Parts: sequence; C-alpha cells; structure tokens
Amino acid sequence: MKKQFAVIGLGRFGGSICREFAKMGYDVLAIDNDMEKVNEFATVATQAVQANATDEKVMKSLGIRNFNHVIVSIGEDIQASILTTLLLKESGVNKVWVKAQNDYHHKVLEKLGADRIIHPERDMALRVAQLISSEKIIDFIELSHEHSIVEIGVTDKLVNKTLTDLDVRARFGCNIVAIKRGDDILVSPIADVSLQYGDVLVVIGRNEDLNRFEDEGV
Ligand code: ATP
Ligand code: ATP
Ligand code: CA
Repeated sequence: MKKQFAVIGLGRFGGSICREFAKMGYDVLAIDNDMEKVNEFATVATQAVQANATDEKVMKSLGIRNFNHVIVSIGEDIQASILTTLLLKESGVNKVWVKAQNDYHHKVLEKLGADRIIHPERDMALRVAQLISSEKIIDFIELSHEHSIVEIGVTDKLVNKTLTDLDVRARFGCNIVAIKRGDDILVSPIADVSLQYGDVLVVIGRNEDLNRFEDEGV
C-alpha cells in the first residue's frame, strides 16, 4: 500500500514539506484553514483541503486516521496545534510530527504523545553552527546525543592512502561506511581501497571519536 501523508498548516515549514513530498512522488493531503493557502497548494499536493484541523468531525470526514504520518505545522496558534495533535493521537494516527513554537509548547506536545517535535529554526541553527565551527565536516546526521554520521572530504594527508594505512577503526574507533566518489558511492568499502582527491568519507562513530579523527586523522 502506498504511504499516505498529510500536512496540516501550510506556512513556510509545512508548505516546504508538502513540496518535498510531491517531488518525491508521494501522495500528500494538504490542509489549511486559510483558503488562499489551499489554493496555492492545489497544484502541488495530491489534494488540498480548506478545513479547521481542530474540528473533529471535519477531520473524521477526511479520513485522517487512515494516514500513516501526519505533520502538524501550526506555529503561531499554539492552542490549535495542541488540540490538533490531541485529536490526531486520539484517532490513532500512527506517526504525528509537530512543529513546536517554544519550550512550553514542546512540553505539552510531549505529554500528548507527539511522536516527534521539531523546532525548525533552533534545529537548523545548531546544524549551521556545527558545520561552520568545523572546517573539515561537510555534513552530518545526529544519530543520538553521542553518535553521528559525518561526511569528511579527503585532504592532502589522505590522498593515495588505503583504509588499512589509515587504520581508522583501530586508531579512532570509527567506521567508514561509504566513500562518495563523483556520482558513485562505494558502500562498505574494502580495506585496500585507495583514496582520491574529491572523495568524501561517510564516517559513523561516537562524537568524541569522530572529533579525534577529524583533528588528528585527516
Ligand atoms: P512558518 O514559520 O512555517 O512559516 P507560520 O509562522 O507562517 O509558519 P502559522 O501562522 O503559525 O505559520 O501557521 C501555519 C499555517 O497554519 C497557516 O497557513 C495557518 O492558516 C494554518 N492554521 C492555523 N490554524 C489552523 C487550524 N486550526 N487548522 C488548519 N490550519 C491552521
Ligand atoms: P579489524 O581488526 O578492525 O576488524 P581487520 O583485521 O578485519 O580489521 P581489515 O578489514 O583488513 O582488517 O582492515 C585493516 C584496518 O583498516 C582495520 O583494522 C581498520 O582500522 C581499517 N579499516 C578497514 N576498513 C575500514 C573501514 N571501513 N572503516 C574504518 N577503518 C577501516
Ligand atoms: Ca513562523
């Protein structure tokens, strides 16, 4: 069965998510109580509907409980965001992800059982700060508070070296899970692969080990 997504609130955040889903070819139901927003997304989403998400009857008639994943992106009207989240969780929607406006909002959403709470500005600021503060790291994914996956460009120091030469696992406790080379990606690279200019290492490990690798290994 095809995955079914719904996005409630078509501001910048919800709107961008809608566009991404559409690009990826997923079915997405877009909901907003502002008719102008609904018109704007009529050609983007599979279906765009004008509705007040806090109206239980209307949401029921849209069959909202049949969606695998609903994103609530109502920021300003915290009360509406909270009530919508409550209704979605009560109706049994499997995954409800909600944009939070502040820490109080976050706390309430947590109590209601929101499956993921997002602070777009704060989360992005953290990313940007971390990327700027580390010259060598191209990108990263935070897996937990202690573990990440980072992308590190191959420096002069690494060119023509093999993974065995670098001995990354033994010296730093990190694993190179892939090497990006142009449009190719070498998944689970063998130990004697020789690194080239332009290669990007995709490395998984504990943050402290990754930092050590970044400082001393590359
Ligand atoms: P962003 O920061 O992502 O740009 P925003 O600050 O523009 O968002 P808000 O004004 O908080 O976003 O709301 C996002 C959208 O949610 C708006 O388009 C608004 O019409 C819609 N919205 C607000 N309340 C409801 C509701 N009860 N039901 C459906 N949509 C709603
Ligand atoms: P290990 O003892 O760590 O399991 P191994 O004896 O199987 O490694 P090889 O796979 O030949 O040896 O690799 C030699 C060394 O090269 C490893 O000890 C490790 O430090 C490093 N190495 C090889 N592949 C990777 C990788 N994908 N990521 C990080 N380090 C690697
Ligand atoms: Ca906003």
